Amino acid sequence: MSIIRTEHVSKSFGKLEVLKDINLTVDAGEVVCIIGPSGAGKSTYLRSLNQLEKITSGKIFIDDQLFLHREKDHTVERVDPATQKKLLLEMGMVFQRFNLFPHMTVMDNITLAPRKVKGMGKSEAETIGLQLLQKVGLAEKANVYPNTLSGGQQQRVAIARALAMQPKIMLFDEPTSALDPEMVGEVLNVIRDLTKEGMTMIIVTHEMGFAREVSDRVFFMDEGIVMEQGKPADLFSKPQLKRTQDFLAKVL
Ligand code: ADP
Ligand code: MG
Repeated sequence: MSIIRTEHVSKSFGKLEVLKDINLTVDAGEVVCIIGPSGAGKSTYLRSLNQLEKITSGKIFIDDQLFLHREKDHTVERVDPATQKKLLLEMGMVFQRFNLFPHMTVMDNITLAPRKVKGMGKSEAETIGLQLLQKVGLAEKANVYPNTLSGGQQQRVAIARALAMQPKIMLFDEPTSALDPEMVGEVLNVIRDLTKEGMTMIIVTHEMGFAREVSDRVFFMDEGIVMEQGKPADLFSKPQLKRTQDFLAKVL
């Protein structure tokens, strides 16, 4: 069963066509890494999935249900707003820059959305929050403010915050790119644990070793197109396209 399916998804910023007819399917429980050069459209693709960007045309299905349909000529199927909201909440996202709320404690950062969006009571939200902080190894940091944490710790809080909404899908946009090298490992470990739990994930990353280790499939994206995809052993060892070969030669 596919949990994410995009059909003919295109996105332009003015005249710049950033996503060109993307057709991708991710199955439930699958871990997919997207690799590719800067400017390829990787972030725009993830952001389009959860409506941080408005696609120009195409269809997005979440959990086998139509989530979004836009066409340039405006002939779209209307999606019931309640269904759309439910499907949107099935996706959690983690950004390169952790985007924690600086004026709120770690626990308040984590419990805000479950309380405001899901109407969860404070004590239930904090019980779940504490479990998640334990999971990311930061239980003792519940009551501190983000600016007292290292980048790696802040990113682990950001992951806990996304998980607090109990998403079915986690989207990671270069979760370790803004970190000092010594903090990359602790964040990758948390993501690695999630892969073992069977969470469906799309991870945009430049950590090629990690992508090779955790992913079921790897997509190589360039110029708004998924140029090549395959199992990590195949894509990393015997890329078919010259463009993929050139990219890997630079980053490996
Ligand atoms: P990647 O994540 O692969 O580095 P992005 O998806 O961030 O690539 O960007 C793809 C292209 O879209 C780039 O050329 C970028 O400059 C352009 N782009 C991204 N966001 C915007 C925006 N809000 N307005 C205009 N152009 C944008
Ligand atoms: Mg990006």
